[in-house]
Amino acid sequence: MAKSGRQELPKTGAEKGNDEARKFSWKNWGALGKMGSYLRPHAWGYALGILIISASGILTLLVTRLWGQLGGVGTMGDGPAQVESPMQALNIDMTNLTSIGWTILIVLFVQATLSFARVVLFARMTEDMMRDMRSDAFEAIVRMPMRFFDTRRVGDLNSRVSADITAIQDIFTTTMAELLRQVIIIIGGILALLYFSVTLTLLMLATLPVMIIAAILFGRFIRKLSKRTQDQVAESNTIVQETLTGIISVKSFANEALELVRYGTSIRDIRTLALKGAIWRGAFASFIILFIFGAITLVIFKGADLMASGGLESEHFFTFLLMTGLVAGSIGGIAAQFSALQKGLGAIESLMELMDEPQEPVDTRSESLTKLKLAGRVQFKNVHFHYPNREDINVLKGIDLDIAPGERIALVGPSGAGKSTMASLLLRFHDPVSGDILIDGQSLASFPLTAYRKRVAFVPQEVILFGGDIRSNIAYGKPDATENEIMDAAEKANAKEFIDSFPEGFDTLVGERGVQLSGGQRQRIAIARAILRNPDILILDEATSALDSTSELEVQKALDVLMQGRSSLIIAHRLSTIRSADRIAVIADGTIQEWGNHEDLMAAQGPYFRLVENQEIGLA
Ligand code: ADP
Repeated sequence: MAKSGRQELPKTGAEKGNDEARKFSWKNWGALGKMGSYLRPHAWGYALGILIISASGILTLLVTRLWGQLGGVGTMGDGPAQVESPMQALNIDMTNLTSIGWTILIVLFVQATLSFARVVLFARMTEDMMRDMRSDAFEAIVRMPMRFFDTRRVGDLNSRVSADITAIQDIFTTTMAELLRQVIIIIGGILALLYFSVTLTLLMLATLPVMIIAAILFGRFIRKLSKRTQDQVAESNTIVQETLTGIISVKSFANEALELVRYGTSIRDIRTLALKGAIWRGAFASFIILFIFGAITLVIFKGADLMASGGLESEHFFTFLLMTGLVAGSIGGIAAQFSALQKGLGAIESLMELMDEPQEPVDTRSESLTKLKLAGRVQFKNVHFHYPNREDINVLKGIDLDIAPGERIALVGPSGAGKSTMASLLLRFHDPVSGDILIDGQSLASFPLTAYRKRVAFVPQEVILFGGDIRSNIAYGKPDATENEIMDAAEKANAKEFIDSFPEGFDTLVGERGVQLSGGQRQRIAIARAILRNPDILILDEATSALDSTSELEVQKALDVLMQGRSSLIIAHRLSTIRSADRIAVIADGTIQEWGNHEDLMAAQGPYFRLVENQEIGLA
């Protein structure tokens, strides 16, 4: 329908507005709250996870302390090295290298086990959450009203949602855990350092805050740069996608060079941006290294000085060095975790926003759907309509139309007149802005949406088949159809013959990985789908592309069977279809200009006559 036509239009930057990256701000911590329903079932798991991470962080500090002890005892020989109280309680000799070594091994073993448990535990919880989120996001998207899809590029939507879900997955599998571990190491480490030597610790701390602030600011700047690169990459992917989707247009207009230039400019920009990003990332890395190493050098120097003057035990000196490295490393790493966290929270925000978008009242429970049966009277009552995204253009300007049950109405008129829009309204893709559409005398809006649509069949101009075999493509009209029903529908749609001519018959795969069906064949599949569905109201957007006369005849015969006894609204282009209609409505500029059957309208020599004269209606 109208949508297929729009896809080929070049997209402007403005259309991307909705999908632009959203900035994270601390206010958006609320986004995490919205994750409540996904997090709640795992509350105990997360509590356990936090406990494991805390224990593991403390053990890291302990191992560092023990390494320092090894160094101290090593330099002094087995002597009166200081004995730590917890070790004393465990009756471990902290003056003996062997017993320190064994203790370290045991602690490492415990830590290894904890880490393993932590990774598996978080993966399990996160994968559960991701499964639920993926399914909810997909459900939210398929439940969106058509107006949602009118304003978005489907490719963008798909990649944005999967990128969001990946970012969310990252924060729950690693980022949160790492962040917590690093915070524990930093706080615990600093407390321990203070215990060993206040002077040394103060010296080190004097350099840390500067580093933290600088690192965070720096990190934020770099994130902005890399975001711009990502956007540029997405932009260039869109060019590829658009070129490939519209390859027919590209080739037929011989515009390969134009596309090459368009793509070339875009990827050059990626390179420039990425290189700029790399320089800043490099500067960032150097900056961190200088500060960490600078701080360590300063501390080693001061520490050695203190030790030489007897102000610091040797094992404390070693511990101090190791722990400073650990703490500084954690501080350096924390900026990266923060940016991952921000990205994840932004992703949560955007995903939750998507799920909060108003949805259609689609009913996915199948049992309640079968009850509706329509006689098929369709009335348009002074229907006015403009598309939500183009409020200034009135597409329908007071349409009055009355289709009796079983009647066939052909809509004819120039392109852009509003014919497809009428079909969209009848499918309830949109609601009229004013006026009403009545079905069997009742307002269309008062019907349960899904039950109503189940009574309507739409055969589009461009039939898109789903990947899979022919059988399942026909059964799309009625997923619980029996084999006999499917055969019967194919027979009635004049499709059985060509299907049987394939070696694999109904099992023949179609679509990208299967056979390519011709336009006429695809249409007959779509007609078989519609026959199987057995609708009360039929909407047909006749293909404008010329079929050869045999296919045309086959399709026409199939349509005749399909339309039998159903109220049909046909956006018609071929004279043969138009003549077989009970009545013809000539639409132009959003209004019905003329009514009647072919003979009467020809005799009237009005707009219809002129359409036929000018061959705007195909004389096939
Ligand atoms: P026809 O089927 O008679 O060719 P349409 O109903 O497709 O005409 O289009 C009528 C008008 O509505 C045209 O001006 C078209 O540009 C506009 N239009 C169609 N679809 C949309 C849409 N999804 N969003 C905004 N405008 C649309």
